[in-house]
Amino acid sequence: MTFRILDVDSTHCLIAGRWQRNASGETMPLINPSDGKALCEIARGGADDIDAAVAAARAAFDGPWGRSTAVERGRILSKIGALVLENIDALAKMEALDVGKPLAQARADVIALARYMEFYAGAVDKLHGQTIPYLDGYTVYTLREPHGVTGHIIPWNYPMQIIGRSVGAALAAGNAAVLKPAEEACLTALAFGELARRAGLPDGALNVVSGTGAEAGAALTAHHDVNHISFTGSVATGRLIQQAAGQNVVPVTLELGGKSPQLVFEDADIDAALPFLVGAGIQNAGQTCSASSRILVQRGVYDEVVSKMAARYAALRVGPALDDLAVGPLVSMRQKQIVEGFLAQGADLSRAATGEVITQAPSGGAYVAPVLFENVPPDHVLAQDEIFGPVQVIIPFEDEAEALAIANGTNYGLVASVWTRDGARQMRLARALRAGQVFLNNYGAGGGVELPFGGAGLSGHGREKGFEALYAFTALKTVAAYHG
Ligand code: ADP
Repeated sequence: MTFRILDVDSTHCLIAGRWQRNASGETMPLINPSDGKALCEIARGGADDIDAAVAAARAAFDGPWGRSTAVERGRILSKIGALVLENIDALAKMEALDVGKPLAQARADVIALARYMEFYAGAVDKLHGQTIPYLDGYTVYTLREPHGVTGHIIPWNYPMQIIGRSVGAALAAGNAAVLKPAEEACLTALAFGELARRAGLPDGALNVVSGTGAEAGAALTAHHDVNHISFTGSVATGRLIQQAAGQNVVPVTLELGGKSPQLVFEDADIDAALPFLVGAGIQNAGQTCSASSRILVQRGVYDEVVSKMAARYAALRVGPALDDLAVGPLVSMRQKQIVEGFLAQGADLSRAATGEVITQAPSGGAYVAPVLFENVPPDHVLAQDEIFGPVQVIIPFEDEAEALAIANGTNYGLVASVWTRDGARQMRLARALRAGQVFLNNYGAGGGVELPFGGAGLSGHGREKGFEALYAFTALKTVAAYHG
């Protein structure tokens, strides 16, 4: 069974501007996590297909694409963004079926993908080098040049958003890209390839090869002719990818998730915070790198926050993606087992509330009812490890120093947020928190296409999104001219 994606067959790969079967012809099923049934077959691409895709990217980079101007690339990206928006209904439905995310969240992802195209289309002709004052008789300037062929390993939780921020910035900067979507969710990656082709992106500038991580993914990251690798996914796979990049000595951007805290102080506007406290935990069923899985609450408002969050949790309904409830299924039965394993480790903890899987939800779906734990010791495994499911822990604290110690007391450092009306405290904590993004009296800032994003520690390194990504996808060349 195949799936027609904008007239493209789901068992095909995009290589050198042409949709084609993978070399082995092998396929694998793509599972709909809302009911556990196969949606369609996809290509099980392997090393041969990656070789062909990298060669096609190299040819594009050495050809007209590599010599294109920023304005020309910006125009193509603008067109891709427009085509994405024209196809919003189809793309949202595809992502919802594939990932299991509620339709409204999938729609927001389509808009984010278009926004990345718009942002990088508008930004890239403002990317420039500098002149540097130097010795008498010299003129020195810098050039920002694309790396060449970039490899993009995309996870299953936000395929469209992560393709937007990663491939969008790479193409804008003039690289030629090879995209390997996740085996659990790859339909919108194929659709993106087709829309880019229709927008006039030259052959080979973007290649899309589906397949497993161990086969196509590992072949791409180990490929000697790939000049930059960007990866979003698990810590375990991130380590492998950094090792592979190390072998070829190429730069790598790693975004590996987190255990992001929100700190709620006694002087905070609790009712304003509430939608963010819960929403940032259960969005996409908690399968979000920047999910806020730890809620740190000062003693004086602890009971109020627990009871108000619990009331929201009790109202959460979980069901099929197309039912568009607050929470959909997890991406796979494997992910459900992982999350249930964590819940079993939390058997000793106090549950403030749980959500509910609707009775009509198909029995084969990967459903997990959201769980809110309270009074959780900061060193408990549920307060330390990334769960990647709809589970949040509430941790009480006495004062700012204790809150900071708990907030910084994990191996991660992706996002943090502080809820307080005290401006000096906001400034102190914004500096002291170990995180790539700190939000003051909000969380996530609507996704923030424009806002540099990335982490510290096990959350990874390098920055994506915003203008910063254009620096990451270029290398700086210094030119020193002696003219006397
Ligand atoms: P998860 O374990 O939650 O599925 P991963 O981090 O393993 O998350 O997967 C994210 C992406 O990394 C997917 O596209 C997957 O195919 C890919 N991947 C997995 N293993 C490897 C590997 N060894 N080399 C390159 N890519 C990989």
